Amino acid sequence: MTGLLPDVGNCGEPPSSLLIIGKPVTQSLSPLIQNAAIAAAGINAHYDRLEVDATELASVLHRCARDGIAGNITMPHKEAAHATIQRLTVLAHRIGSVNTFWVERGELYGHNTDVEGALATIRALVPDQLTNRRVAILGAGGSAAAVLFAVHIAGCTDIHMHSRTPSRGSAIAARVNVPVHLAESALDAVRGAALVINATPLGMRDDDAMPVDAAVLDDSCAVFDLVYRRGETAWVRVCRARGLPAEDGLRMLVEQGAAAFRAWYGRDPSLEAMWNAVR
Ligand code: NAP
Repeated sequence: MTGLLPDVGNCGEPPSSLLIIGKPVTQSLSPLIQNAAIAAAGINAHYDRLEVDATELASVLHRCARDGIAGNITMPHKEAAHATIQRLTVLAHRIGSVNTFWVERGELYGHNTDVEGALATIRALVPDQLTNRRVAILGAGGSAAAVLFAVHIAGCTDIHMHSRTPSRGSAIAARVNVPVHLAESALDAVRGAALVINATPLGMRDDDAMPVDAAVLDDSCAVFDLVYRRGETAWVRVCRARGLPAEDGLRMLVEQGAAAFRAWYGRDPSLEAMWNAVR
């Protein structure tokens, strides 16, 4: 039976071994930021990468439960981890995706800290409430669900989502239980938006198309790209050149990592150490 935890922050034995599980994971900066936070806190632990195929996920998580290993889940396994892990926090249950896990009394617990990370970036870009303002979300995967809930918490009631596979957009809106307008195109979604969020992987590779043409965005539109890479993404650079406030996914990465650290160790990490590691 799925257990819903009301709270996070007291997850038993502090882990000495942690993993980021995904495929691919070579590009992940999580080991860098978490090992920096662990060292700054004087904790005797290590955080590694583990590339895992979808078919191996359940057995790898089973081994983590047996050996007391905590960690993070990244794409493409966040939704599968939600389906596999029995004990979920209320947030992970609602979002339908798990990016953080730990072991308590031999049982695996799943949580979602992407919401906290996304909210930190939204508040940095748009400090005022989003009430009566339009927000566009591009993409409808595991992270789009967390972004949708963060936008809802930030007070927005006019959310437009475009996804390549429309059924994924409606499924997310139903699962997160937040009303969404499903747009037929990215252009329709971003029209008149005060904030546009890219939750697709577009921009990870040099030859990727832009999530949407910066020229069509409103002059006061803020831009949040979940993708991060050395030297920022091309979309963030083009939007800034247009004079729009724009951020890549680095703040979200650090803030979701800080929330995961709090769940594992019950205390705040050094954000300074985490930022220094990625800068
Ligand atoms: P996901 O579950 O695989 O979902 C990706 C979404 O993007 C799906 O809606 C997918 O559409 C769409 N998509 C994929 N390729 C596309 C393309 N070429 N053109 C248009 N749409 C496309 O991935 P995710 O976990 O949500 O992650 C999405 C991105 O966010 C990744 O780049 C990830 O690195 C980044 N991310 C960053 C952070 C952070 O902390 N900064 C946290 C989480 C995720 P289909 O359904 O049609 O495939």
